[in-house]
Amino acid sequence: MIRVEVGDITMLRSEAIVNAANSTLLGGGGVDGAIHRAAGPQLLAECKSIKGCPTGQACMTLAYDLPAQYVIHTVGPIWHGGGRNEARLLASCYEASLKLCLDNGIQRVVFPAISCGIYGYPREQAVDIAVCTVLDLYQRCGLVEVVFCCFDESMASLYRQRLSR
Ligand code: ADP
Repeated sequence: MIRVEVGDITMLRSEAIVNAANSTLLGGGGVDGAIHRAAGPQLLAECKSIKGCPTGQACMTLAYDLPAQYVIHTVGPIWHGGGRNEARLLASCYEASLKLCLDNGIQRVVFPAISCGIYGYPREQAVDIAVCTVLDLYQRCGLVEVVFCCFDESMASLYRQRLSR
């Protein structure tokens, strides 16, 4: 089942939540900052031990004080106008995150709108990639629930429109 929720991803009780991280994995603004604040300092300590993550890839940690069990950190592309492989890199974030779910027996995962904040990806295009990639792979990856968690209702309505197509 694929659902859309409006709210703060750090409040959601799922097996795994996905973080829109930056390549240092050392925390940042937006959803990344919120996840680190809510998870507590042990998350940063574990992230430091990973030594970074390239754009389009993903890695996993425990979730510490969050209600989820795991955090999947993926690094979305910064939008530069579309000519720097942004679409493939964004799809790769979803693919790599779903692959981690498959490899670790995770059946429920929550995604934020990766790259749609500070990284400036056009929202309709990003939603299209998110929905297409998840629809294509989620059953094959053994998932029973994928939630797209949006911070605001206007983003949620983009997901709902795309999912109802
Ligand atoms: P990026 O750097 O990948 O663009 P941001 O964190 O700036 O990541 O934004 C990604 C999306 O996450 C945006 O749509 C933003 O509104 C949303 N967002 C920010 N904080 C939260 C939160 N606590 N829970 C869910 N979504 C959030």
